[in-house]
Amino acid sequence: MSVKVGRMAKSRTRQQQRSNVGGRDKSTSWQPIFTGAILAVAASFIILVVVAADSFGGSGGGDGGAGVGPTETAAANTSTPDPSATDSPGNADPTRTPTNEPGPDGTTVLACNDILVPLDKQNRLPADCVPPDLEELPGAISAQGAQYMRTEALGALREMFDAARADGFVLQVNSSFRSYQTQADTYNYWVQTYGKEQADRTSARAGHSEHQLGTTADVGARGLFLEDLIGTAEADWLAENSWKYGFIISYPEGKEDITGYAYEPWHVRYVGQGVAADVQASGLTLREFLLK
Ligand SMILES: [Zn+2]
Repeated sequence: MSVKVGRMAKSRTRQQQRSNVGGRDKSTSWQPIFTGAILAVAASFIILVVVAADSFGGSGGGDGGAGVGPTETAAANTSTPDPSATDSPGNADPTRTPTNEPGPDGTTVLACNDILVPLDKQNRLPADCVPPDLEELPGAISAQGAQYMRTEALGALREMFDAARADGFVLQVNSSFRSYQTQADTYNYWVQTYGKEQADRTSARAGHSEHQLGTTADVGARGLFLEDLIGTAEADWLAENSWKYGFIISYPEGKEDITGYAYEPWHVRYVGQGVAADVQASGLTLREFLLK
């Protein structure tokens, strides 16, 4: 998705440049207008680049666009989100604590740090839920600078990537742990870009993202991001093999009515090898399996 944002930014800038050039020809006092136009284009470009960089890292069920951006620091990525921070439009009350029953805002807040917690449009994590053992990904497997996953999930991911490499596929991670606040910003960005309806198909609202668990990764390869991976040999490899290493593709093709999210072959969540094998054998989506 970040690649698309970049393309969009360039395209918009070109359109602005074209319209500004047109305006210059019609103007009798073109010089100040032209100078102003250049400044406006430059300002727009800077804003778009900042937004694109901020949302770099991907979409994903729950990804919704973006994630840990290259400009963010390790401290920002691992710090406890401010529960009083502004939330996404229409989002639930971020100050609520776990109850296991729907609250006044309609969502159910589940306990933090259970790796098998069922996260969907209804169930979410507390705003201050940050995994305890986040570990930085080795640079060789991160496509986005400093990124973090929980220790056990990262170990399993490295085993999976080694196996993929043995089969000729060099996989990387485009986005992994995302804090509550990062997810809130990400969701807001996609709402502003594509509207709420489309954003809700591909982006989780804050608290509802599996990326907040620290066990989930958006996998890429060869510089491919998110939707670019659809239909590739790497996506086929992940679909066939990820469960053997304890990962499940949370949002399979043709299951949007069940999962709530569009097809995301890149988004894998660690549940442990035993559970992953059971999910695979069941033929159910992860959401159905965890809720049953
Ligand atoms: Zn994802």
